[in-house]
Amino acid sequence: MKVAVNEPDLRGNEKKYLCECIDTGWISSEGPFVERFEREMARLCERKHGIAVSNGSVALDAALEALGLPEGSEVIMPAFTIISCASAILRAGCIPVPVDCDRTWNMDVKRVESKITRNTSAIMAVHIYGLPVDMAYICQLARKHDLKVIEDAAEAIGQNCHGHPCGSWGDVSCFSFYPNKHVTTGEGGMILCDGDGLAERCRALRNLCFIPEQRFLHYELGYNFRMSNLQAALGVAQLEKLDSTVRKKRYIGAKYQKLLGGLAGLELPVHKTDYADNIYWVFGIVLGDEIPIDAREFSKRLAALGVGTRPFFWPMHEQPVLIDRGLFGGERYPESERIARRGFYIPSGVALTDEQMEYAAGQVASVLEDT
Ligand SMILES: *Cc1c(COP(=O)(O)O)cnc(C)c1O
Repeated sequence: MKVAVNEPDLRGNEKKYLCECIDTGWISSEGPFVERFEREMARLCERKHGIAVSNGSVALDAALEALGLPEGSEVIMPAFTIISCASAILRAGCIPVPVDCDRTWNMDVKRVESKITRNTSAIMAVHIYGLPVDMAYICQLARKHDLKVIEDAAEAIGQNCHGHPCGSWGDVSCFSFYPNKHVTTGEGGMILCDGDGLAERCRALRNLCFIPEQRFLHYELGYNFRMSNLQAALGVAQLEKLDSTVRKKRYIGAKYQKLLGGLAGLELPVHKTDYADNIYWVFGIVLGDEIPIDAREFSKRLAALGVGTRPFFWPMHEQPVLIDRGLFGGERYPESERIARRGFYIPSGVALTDEQMEYAAGQVASVLEDT
């Protein structure tokens, strides 16, 4: 048997809406699905504005630039995340300040306050692998110290935190619609916010900073970060199925917990906290120190048995491109370092069958036994 690490489910209205784009000739970002997708994402997350963009990384880029944080100010962020978070901070002229993760694999919120200096301007909170960061705690800290909050909810579409949607917290929230996310448009992203001025800035940056009065006259440098009507058509169809996607992801998570929970030496995702239940964007596994092989070797052995995996993120303070810029002064973030080396995730896509999950878990157990 072969079990892919992710396979999207495109069996709803995706084809119908794509055909509508082709039949009507509306394929560019001017088409009607773009605004509809923005409206529906904003409604899902109880936000006033949605700005669709071409991917999740540029959503972060535009959001950070639109916030207009002071040049050279510090933005606190998790050490354990995707490079897009740090690159957006740097491109906005700011300095990323990492915080180590805790047992939830999220930024340890208890360590955030000690990182706040006179030079801090914002906190970027990133929900990792489907279990949210405690946003109530982050937002209360931000209020106390007068900081902006950027929420990266790419891995938490349809998730809640303290009963409020992920993507509803802070000054601005960003999403990705890459094919492994809960809602996919192939490539795509979205910025959500409530501030009218902030939304206008994001829209301008997305579209080359055209001005309405004289279209090809520019006072600022923008980008082409537009999402096409074809992508948005997929997004609208995908959103219609979000409830069932989330139910399926939770089912997959609970099933793997049951299948793998009894195996000694495996650290599995935290199933629930007092503010959220895991939505299992992906099902991660961290190998205990007593297991004599690392994540890379374990994944190689699983691949030989037909089970797809992906490595965990590699921490920001160990990124050559960031160290070369003189960042982080040799600081260590031991939890992030540990889970990067010992962690990987197993097949987690919505299309998984019971049989495939049982096979994947069985192979994890057999590789473990052979170590
Ligand atoms: C996927 C992801 C992104 C980047 O999105 P792309 O659409 O791939 O550019 C950013 N942040 C997080 C947390 C992600 O999981």
